[in-house]
Parts: sequence; structure tokens; C-alpha cells
Amino acid sequence: MSCHKPEVETATLNARDGLDHNPFAAMQPRAPARTPDALRNGARVKSNDVIPQGVYLPNYNRLTPNMRSPEYVQMSTAAAITLGIMKGQMYRCSCTRCLNLLLTYPEGCRANCAYCGLARHREAERDYADRNFIRVDWPAVPLDMTIDTVARDPGKSPFHRMCISMITHPRSDEDTVSVLKRWTDRIDPSAIPVSILSNPTTMTRADVKRLRDLGADIFTVALDAATPEIFERTRGKGVQSPHSWQKYWEILLDARDIFGPQKFGAHIIVGMGETEREVLALVQRLVDLGGHSHMFCFFPEKGSLMDHLPATPRDQWRRVQLGRYLIDYRGARVEKMSFDSEGRVSDFGLPRDQLDEVIDAGVAFRTSGCPGKFAEDVSACDRPYGDSPPSNIASYPFQPNKRDIGKIRRQLRIVERRH
Ligand code: SF4
Repeated sequence: MSCHKPEVETATLNARDGLDHNPFAAMQPRAPARTPDALRNGARVKSNDVIPQGVYLPNYNRLTPNMRSPEYVQMSTAAAITLGIMKGQMYRCSCTRCLNLLLTYPEGCRANCAYCGLARHREAERDYADRNFIRVDWPAVPLDMTIDTVARDPGKSPFHRMCISMITHPRSDEDTVSVLKRWTDRIDPSAIPVSILSNPTTMTRADVKRLRDLGADIFTVALDAATPEIFERTRGKGVQSPHSWQKYWEILLDARDIFGPQKFGAHIIVGMGETEREVLALVQRLVDLGGHSHMFCFFPEKGSLMDHLPATPRDQWRRVQLGRYLIDYRGARVEKMSFDSEGRVSDFGLPRDQLDEVIDAGVAFRTSGCPGKFAEDVSACDRPYGDSPPSNIASYPFQPNKRDIGKIRRQLRIVERRH
């Protein structure tokens, strides 16, 4: 097993009609099909009722066991390889620094986000624990076994952070608390800090506070969409999904109050139809509130309602990656940047030598997320190849080398300066 999968979607990596960005009109999701009643709510898994035995590796030729959090969690392929429960190699990475744990239930996530491989509309086609998510499989593992392995020597663990990813499910709030408690009972959160990737739709301010009081370090909200219109179209009524922009912001602002500066953030997917000006204005708003943005490059996830759409062209993505890094970590401001008539960055508002220094340092083009132990601007959550294939990397899960920087410069169309 490797993260270096052959790609069937390669054609969609190129912008449509020669465009160097994904405009709103081109990014309309498909409408979800109706799931037959007999297949709803994990009915197949519950009626087969196969008793789980240890680790479950997604396998479409076997009956999926009946697994539930908090006893079971799913983890990314990268985390499973790092933990030693799956064999495999990742292109140019020896491990991941973040143990991403995803809550799991036969009923799965009850939301229907258009870009997501875990969405509810897939019920008829694939059981929840077998669905691909950010381009990889997510093995299901007993939580206690995972904690036992890490608790043997947390100080020497390859993981710099653990993250609990909530999903939209009636049990998700309580089970997130249970997973956090079981973890912090055995593993000192100062050795491996914990982040929460929240599900605002089912949460209250009191839930946010409870997670902070139990030792969570950082709280993030997956806004994913950069504008209310894109949110509604991809995560709200547009796809029969329960989320609302207003509720997500309510919980985000609760997190700002409760977790405090630098301890909250938002996920944003770039290239679902927003302009570069819009997404960088959102990044600025988050920084002005005291938080950070964690960026993902849109990729057409197989089986999702957007799997027919083009991935974000690399020039759009690189401009936003660079702009976001400058705002988040170098004190730049969106008002000082210039944009063309289509909202694309035409000037970052910095002297050329300063811009060159940031580009050459390469950190701006690494995966963004909650920090690990290396530096504040280097994410523990490196999500190897979660938003691109290794053949055309969007978020670098490692430090880009000189050759990578040359490629990034060509994508940015900012040529190397001759000294
Ligand atoms: S709430 Fe999260 S896990 Fe559920 S469909 Fe939406 S993006 Fe996917």
C-alpha cells in the first residue's frame, strides 16, 4: 500500500478552457441521488452485524464490521503507516507528524458536503468505513490499541500532535469528549497536544468550553467554503446538507473567546469558485480575530458530488498559498495587495527582495495546519498527498528543495532573480 496511487483523474488537474483559476460558474456540484430506504443510515452494516476484530483495513470485498466510536476510530493511511499498523511508503516522506483520528459509525456522517468522500449520498454505493477521504483510505482501529501504542513513550513518538475529527452524527459531541478523556488520561497533552476539528452544526458554546477544559489545545472549524454562497451551494441546502455559514461562524467566534489567540483557526478549500481576493480577505479576517487559516487545494475526490470538476490550477493555488502565508506569518495585509479585474493577485505589496526570500524559504508552500514541534509556521498536520497526487504536489508535506522551488516559481510566474 502506498500513498502514491495511480491517478485516474489526471485530466482534471489541468484548468478548463485554459483558465488559470476556477471561477464560480464552473464549479457547480452534481445534485445528490436519492438513497433507497433499505440502504439508509448504515442499514447494510447494521443488519450484517459483523463483530469487529482488531484493525479493519478498508476492503471492498469483505463485509464491513459494525464499528462505533469511541471504541473504534479511523485514521489516515499516513498515520496508520507511521503507527506501524499498515505497511507502505509515502513518496519523499518517512512519516506524518499528526495522528488524525476520525469518529466512525455505521450511519456515517449525516451531512452531504459536495467535495467530501465521506458524504451521506454515498450510502448506497459504499459503507462508511470504506469511503475514501482526502484521497486515501482510512483504516479503522480500536482506540485503546492506538492509545496503548502511543502511550508507551509519548516523548519519542513521531507524532507532534493528535487531532480528533468530528463528523455530523448525533453521538459525535459526546464521543469526542470520550476520545479526548481516554487520550489525556494516558498521554500528557503537553507531550502531544490535541486539536479538535469540530462539527459546529451540533455544538454549543458549552461544548467548546468543555473540550478546552479537558485539555484540548487548538480548536478549528472547517468552514471549507470561502464565501456564504459557496458554503450554501456545497454544504447547505444546495446539496441537502444541514450546515449553515452563520452557525459555523458562531462556533468559530466562541472558539476565539474560549481558546484565545493563536489557538483557533479555520479550514478553507481554495478553488471552489471564490476569487483570490475573497479568500485572502477571509484569511485577513481570521488573522485580525487572532486565529489562523489552514488551506486545502480543491481536488475532485472520487465518488464526491464534485468529482467531475477541475482541481485548482496550480497558479491560482500558489498565489493564494503565498498570500496566506504572508498575512498569517509575515504581517502583510490584504489591503496592501493588488488584484486584477477577476480578483487575482497581481502584486503582493512587498518589495521584491522580501518576496524572494519568502518564496525561497519554501515554508509558504508546505501543508498548513496546527503547528508541531519544529516551528510555529510548520504544520504538524502534513496530510501527505491529501490535496494532490505526488506527481503534481499542491501542499508539500516536506520541506521543498531547490528544484521544487524552481517549479513553484514557474507556477507562480515569478522568475528567479539573477544575483
Ligand atoms: S461534515 Fe465533514 S465529514 Fe461530513 S460530509 Fe461534510 S466535510 Fe465530510
